[in-house]
Amino acid sequence: MKRRAFITTLAASSVAPTLGACAPPPNLQGKPIKITLLGTGSPAPSLKRQGSGYLLEVGDDLIVMDHGPGAHHRLIESGYRAVDVKHAFFSHLHYDHCMDYARLVLQRWDQGADRIPELKVYGPSPIARMTELLFGEDGVYGPDIRARVEHQSSIDVFQARGGKPPRKRPAPGVKEVHAGDVVEGDGWKVTVGRASHVQPQLECLAFRLDSDGGSVCYSGDGGLSDDLVKLARGCDVLIQMNHHFSGTEPTASYRAAVGSHKDNAVIAKRAGVKTLVLTHFLTQIDQPGVREQIIHEIQQEFEGKVIWGEDLMQLSLTGSGLTGIGV
Ligand SMILES: [Zn+2]
Repeated sequence: MKRRAFITTLAASSVAPTLGACAPPPNLQGKPIKITLLGTGSPAPSLKRQGSGYLLEVGDDLIVMDHGPGAHHRLIESGYRAVDVKHAFFSHLHYDHCMDYARLVLQRWDQGADRIPELKVYGPSPIARMTELLFGEDGVYGPDIRARVEHQSSIDVFQARGGKPPRKRPAPGVKEVHAGDVVEGDGWKVTVGRASHVQPQLECLAFRLDSDGGSVCYSGDGGLSDDLVKLARGCDVLIQMNHHFSGTEPTASYRAAVGSHKDNAVIAKRAGVKTLVLTHFLTQIDQPGVREQIIHEIQQEFEGKVIWGEDLMQLSLTGSGLTGIGV
């Protein structure tokens, strides 16, 4: 599809009112999906694992799902830059999932020099308000943006990058989405589901991407729920937080919000996914011996493949399933 036609289609039908997980996937002409884990950490400080972030290459589109602290650094390490990213999905607005949103938008705006379309952003409320509070006239970065738009030195740099004054302010195309919505892309679609996490304070979403290269479900954060099992049904890859070792949860409420490794085994088995990618680890379970025990115990319940995620790990999917894993 030509770019102009695609943008028009996206604007007109980016959020359809029906669930589409069971419909035939869009035609991607056999192109594989490449998944890169940008950040597999938690809110705890870590140099090894950055905040939550996932990169999906689908056809000609580069999509990020969540962009927590450090995820953007990993994006650059993966060989891409902000200007390459076309779509950003946010599962929920815990800071470890969205703190690099500003970096993505501002670097994209600065380097893109008005030569690329605005970033398409999808997430739960209040992502639109967050965007305005970050990049609006009176936003956190309002004075910075004003200086870059108005100061001659910045205009000079903007022109050197190919821009034509007057320079526009960054204006991501934000669409707030909710469980049941479907976002249609160029050869892919994302179905929005509900994650069982920290409602009602935050709306928490999960995403399932389908194309003819395969299907990927990113559950955001959350524990075992029928909604997630339904969303992930039959997926090639389920990316699932594994925050905790079963049996050591401090409270039932905590377990419901973040799950445990045995809960993840149940989710993967009930959903019938082919590969379970574990992520979002606390340091205390990210240890030799413990991780092997977790994988072993999950495999007692779930017969598919179990992968202990690492930052910058890459997974390749074709229409015939998972064909490559590398770091
Ligand atoms: Zn969270």
